[in-house]
This record gives sequence, structure tokens and C-alpha cells, in this order.
Amino acid sequence: MNNIAIYMRISFSERDRQKQTEETINSQRNIIKHFIFNDQELKKANIEEFVDEGYSGSTTSRPGLDMLLKKVRGQEINCIIVKDMSRFMRNYIEMGDYLENIFPFMGVRFIAINDGYDSDKEGHNGTELDIQFKNLLNDYYSRDISEKMTTALYTARKQGKYTTGTPPYGYLKDPKNKYKLIIDESVSDNVRYIFQLILEGYTLNETAKILNDEGVITARARRNQIKGYDSYSNRWFSTVEQTIWSHSMVRRILKNEVYTGTMVFNKTSKSKLDGGSVTYHPKEEWEKIYNNHEAIISKETFDRVSELLKSRHKNKFYGGKSKYKNSPIAPFVRCNKCGYKIRFLKSSNGKELIGINLYCYYCRMLDQEEKLHHYKDLEEDVFKILKDRFHTDKAEKERLLKEQKKLYDKNDELLKKKRIEFENYKFGKISREAFIGLKDQLEESTEENNKRIKVIDKELKESGTIESLTEDVVAKYIKTIYISGKGIEKIEYC
Ligand SMILES: [Zn+2]
Repeated sequence: MNNIAIYMRISFSERDRQKQTEETINSQRNIIKHFIFNDQELKKANIEEFVDEGYSGSTTSRPGLDMLLKKVRGQEINCIIVKDMSRFMRNYIEMGDYLENIFPFMGVRFIAINDGYDSDKEGHNGTELDIQFKNLLNDYYSRDISEKMTTALYTARKQGKYTTGTPPYGYLKDPKNKYKLIIDESVSDNVRYIFQLILEGYTLNETAKILNDEGVITARARRNQIKGYDSYSNRWFSTVEQTIWSHSMVRRILKNEVYTGTMVFNKTSKSKLDGGSVTYHPKEEWEKIYNNHEAIISKETFDRVSELLKSRHKNKFYGGKSKYKNSPIAPFVRCNKCGYKIRFLKSSNGKELIGINLYCYYCRMLDQEEKLHHYKDLEEDVFKILKDRFHTDKAEKERLLKEQKKLYDKNDELLKKKRIEFENYKFGKISREAFIGLKDQLEESTEENNKRIKVIDKELKESGTIESLTEDVVAKYIKTIYISGKGIEKIEYC
């Protein structure tokens, strides 16, 4: 592989509306380049661009395309990459001819990213028919016959039917009614967790990192799990997206109103004139059906998160965790079995907090989840342990300080005594031996007093008045609390 042609096209009608459409030459180029750079073989090749601007898809006279085909005939190109097949050619008979006869004959590989088509990977297994069908559909679009289909879809959505291909992360299609969304219990808590992390003050990037650290299954991986196979292997999505969370994946979830039980439709429409270019409608034109399906996130939480994201966006210097408090022990608790952080997932009835559910995500995924103690019980246990170990009440503190002062005074006394005995010896009142004996005795007592003073110092330093359990108090003494279904297993102190 050494010469790749990338072909991009935008028609007049699209160019006029460029501000509303994302389908600019640039976005096509980005998608194609992204695809190329994720392919070990393709990224080494030379890339040549061919662009047609303002030529309708219905006519086949396009200078960019003509130049490209000329180079194919001159054997200067051995791979063509386009975003959509419809970008390349609209007339399906001609398209089919190129795909099935001309390109294979010239040894040209053809890739249509969004159609999941790669001539190198297609065998003679009937996919050709699929492609012909797609082209036929594009043909129809060009001739403005798609009207009926569009109307049918719109009607279905107005009735609250979920007509888009795959349900969003956290939902499944109801097996009894494929137009209805039901909660995907095995990952819905992950959605709640993502909203909570944002409320707790984590940024999109930090949230993605936490999800990755905890090995949380991604939307795409979950989709493949449901389908039982990797349906995207032929697509341009990098395999990275299968397993790794990115800030944009997190944002996509945070912005999707579907989680509040609302179905939003009429966000986009496909142009009938040039076959499939997507127009993004302004927000006022979106249509919504509230309480269409079971919510995972309350409206209040959703709105708070939206506001938060907006304010952070405005204020670049946003820093520090928010006041949205979790249990004070939450940051310190880990699973005794696997060592992962225990999630303290808040649950609310839409208006107020009803409780906090504790679970180890990792153990849950392995079907080894243990029922953990109520968070209030654990808090109480930690509080008791901290008090026993580190709390010194006011009276006790005063007693220690008093004792220490007495010891200092005693030492002063001893020093005075030592001086007096020294004078006695100097004036010949006592013998040298007697003085040395007394001196040793006095110094020994002083030494003992000093030892006790040090002990009290240490006690006073370590002691605190632990009147209530706050995150700061826990952080001062505790590094990690390991728990199991039996309760606290061990504590690592700072
Ligand atoms: Zn675990």
C-alpha cells in the first residue's frame, strides 16, 4: 500500500447551511484521517486529497472525482477512502460497476468508513448485495422518495417509540416490545456513579480516569456483550474506544436527557436532496416526551450536572471538590477481597437523598458481591475506633498538661538541690564520695522525669478532640479501611 486517495464532497445546499451542519469537508477529512492513523498499514502510505465542492450528488460530473478516476486508470492510486459510499457516487449501477469490476481489476482497495465496507475484507459472501441495496436507497434519496420513510419514523417517535438502532448505555430494548427502553441493571449504577463523580467535583478527565482505574465496562464493550459478538470490528472506531473511557464518552452520557426518562427526538434530520447529509436542528425544534421510560437519573441531578459543566466551562480556574458531600469515610474504604475502592453510590427518589448503597464494582462484575454493612454502621465503627485510639477529652488533656508542668517544676527543684549539695561539698560540709552519690541520685530522678515528659508530649501530639466524624478527621489518622461482608477487616493508619 503506498498511494491513498481520500475523496470528500460537499454540495451547494450543504455549503449554504454549513454553520448548521457538521458535514463539512473538514469533518469528513477528520474522520478519514482518524481512520487512517489507527491503521498500522494505511498510516505509512502517501495521502492525496480529492475534493468536490458544490456538485450535486445526483450528477456524476465532478472534477475531483474525475481526476481521481483518471489517476486510478493511470495506476497511480491503489486505495480509495471515503466517509460514506453516498459521498462517492450516487448512481448505484455505476457504483456497483466500480466496486465489483473496475476497482478489483485495477487492484484498488476501496474503503467506505461509515458503511463498514473494506474491499480487502469482504469475501464473496453476499455483502455485495447489501451494498447494492444501500446504493439503491441512496438512489431513492436522490429522487426524493424517502419522504414516506421519514414520515413513518417521525410518527413512531411521536408515539414515544425508541427507533434508533442501539439503546444508550444503561438501557436495553424491552424483549417484549422493541420500541421500549428498560433499565440495564448490570450497568445502570455506572451511569449514576458518573453523575455523582461530577457532582463530587471531579472533572470529565478525572472521571474517565476513575472509570478506567476501576475497569468499568464501556458503552461499546457492553453493546458487544449484549450482542455476543464484536459487531464493530469492521468499523472505523478505534479499538481503544472499546475498553477505555474518554472525557468525551463521559460527556456524552452526562448530556443525554434519555437518563431522566425523557425521549428527545427531531434533533437531526437527513437531507432528502443530497442523500443523507445530516442537519442539526436548533434546540427549540427538538421534541420531547417526558416520563417515556424509567429514569436512571433524576431531573434535579441532571440539571445540576449541566449547570456545573457550564460553570466549569466558563471558569477555567475551577478547582477543588464541590460541597456535594458523600460519607466522610467514602474516600478511604476498599474491598478486603480485591482491594478496589468501594463505591458509595447515593440514591435519591428524585427530590431528596434516601441513602447510600455500598458495593464493590469489581466483585459485582465477578458475581462475588457480598452484602456490605450499612454505611451508617461503618461510620459509627470508624468513629468508635478513632475515639478509642486517638481521642483525648479536655479534662484528660488538662491533666496531662498539669502533670507535665509538675515534672518540669520537680526538675527545677532537683537542679537547685544539686547546686546546694555542690556548695556543701565545696565548703567541706560533706565528703566528695557523698556528693557524687547524691549527684547521681538527683540526675537519675531528672532523667526519669524527662522520660515521662516526652511520653506526655507524644500523647498530647497524637491526641485530638474527635467530636464528630468528618472527612478531614478521618484523613488525619487513616489511610485505608478494608471491609468485607463482615464489616471492618483492617485499618491502615497514616
Ligand atoms: Zn471486591
